[in-house]
Amino acid sequence: TLQDRLEATFKRLRGKGRLTDADIDATCREIRIALLEADVALPVVREFIGHVKERARGAEVHQALNPAEQVIKIVHEELIQILGGDTRRLRFAKTPPTVILLCGLQGAGKTTLAGKLGRWLKEQGHQPLLVAADLQRPNAVEQLEIIGQRAGVAVFAPERGSGVGDPVDVARRSVEYAKSKLYDIVIVDTAGRLGVDEEMMRQAADIRDAIQPDEILFVVDAMIGQDAVTTAEAFRDGVGFDGVVLSKLDGDARGGAALSVRYVTGRPVMFASTGEKLEDFDVFHPDRMASRILGMGDVLTLIEAAERAFDEKQAAEVADKLKTEKGFTLEDFLAQMQAVRRMGPLSKILGMLPGLGEVRDQINQIDDRELDRIEAIIRSMTPAERADPKIINGSRRARIAKGSGTTVSDVNLLVERFLEARKVMSQLSQGKGLPGMPGLPG
Ligand code: GDP
Ligand code: MG
Repeated sequence: TLQDRLEATFKRLRGKGRLTDADIDATCREIRIALLEADVALPVVREFIGHVKERARGAEVHQALNPAEQVIKIVHEELIQILGGDTRRLRFAKTPPTVILLCGLQGAGKTTLAGKLGRWLKEQGHQPLLVAADLQRPNAVEQLEIIGQRAGVAVFAPERGSGVGDPVDVARRSVEYAKSKLYDIVIVDTAGRLGVDEEMMRQAADIRDAIQPDEILFVVDAMIGQDAVTTAEAFRDGVGFDGVVLSKLDGDARGGAALSVRYVTGRPVMFASTGEKLEDFDVFHPDRMASRILGMGDVLTLIEAAERAFDEKQAAEVADKLKTEKGFTLEDFLAQMQAVRRMGPLSKILGMLPGLGEVRDQINQIDDRELDRIEAIIRSMTPAERADPKIINGSRRARIAKGSGTTVSDVNLLVERFLEARKVMSQLSQGKGLPGMPGLPG
């Protein structure tokens, strides 16, 4: 992958104390090959290498204490520039509703994105409405309805049995509907074709003219490589768009699309889709993408995921409960565990940490079954048992083991570990220090 190649290039570079022009040329050549192999468009590669080379030969590298690090820093900064610099946020209309139109080829991920965007906006307190204006494929409307339901977001669709509807009419009526029902954001899903064709462009342009969207987002499958650029150009000329959404960045996408599309179209990448599930979605951060490409891990994304999962208020409550040893129950423990799990599978969370390249295989073997088992055990307890695990006697143990499909010793182990951990946490939170250790000042 692009990441592996660049990592190898920089490893070679790091071994050198002083850099000659020949070293810089060789490094740039490697980067050039890595980018081309990752399907970055040629003009983008040229421009990128040009900038890097010019800066790398300049004073900032010659005078640096560690020239190799300095070159890597330059590459990082130039990557951020190519990716668009700062994150571009959604613009909301001054008078609601904010109208967002999605366009792109069939299979790009528009309908899925409608659900992800809807869920994400709802989480931030908005009232989004999804609009089924893809009347091309027979079950497109139903697909959006299912996704909307899963996302907990309302869907506006043409009346059933009304025959072939007119997508322009549906889109127009949806905006009126949103106004009357006080939805503040309208997300219009449109039809796509497998290839770019005039009729599709005209339909998207007609919908655009009818509803005057505040944002037009072009959704593009990051795995289509070089084709992403030609498709993006066709949509820029045919419909015009304000921002790009890269989908399927989770696949073996070589990353080239992300680097090219923004440069070639001059439109920023605003969001990234990284899986089929509704939560596999995030704002696109050029600096983080650049770090990821360079193999620096994505610590910032990880931290944000953690912050979202751990409601601060809940954390404060837990801290309070810990002050008295009995206060923290298995019920609280379950809630905490679920908050952590909301961040995603354990392997994915760990995979975002930097420097774990070598142990990636082991990480992939960590499965979430152990956590599933713990959850099952706690769920099989009565509220009284969760509140005070000390009442769990032999017959209760047997019942819990049976109910959770585990063994009595699994249950024992969990209860013991919980009581032990609670004792330690409680003592720490009271400033007494670790058991058996001289008390630390509180
Ligand atoms: P549309 O034709 O543009 O509306 O595309 P869809 O939203 O129907 O998506 C096409 C397929 O791609 C579906 O099977 C989705 O589940 C899948 N898909 C969409 N986004 C992603 C993504 O970010 N990652 C992965 N792995 N699959 C995705
Ligand atoms: Mg669709």
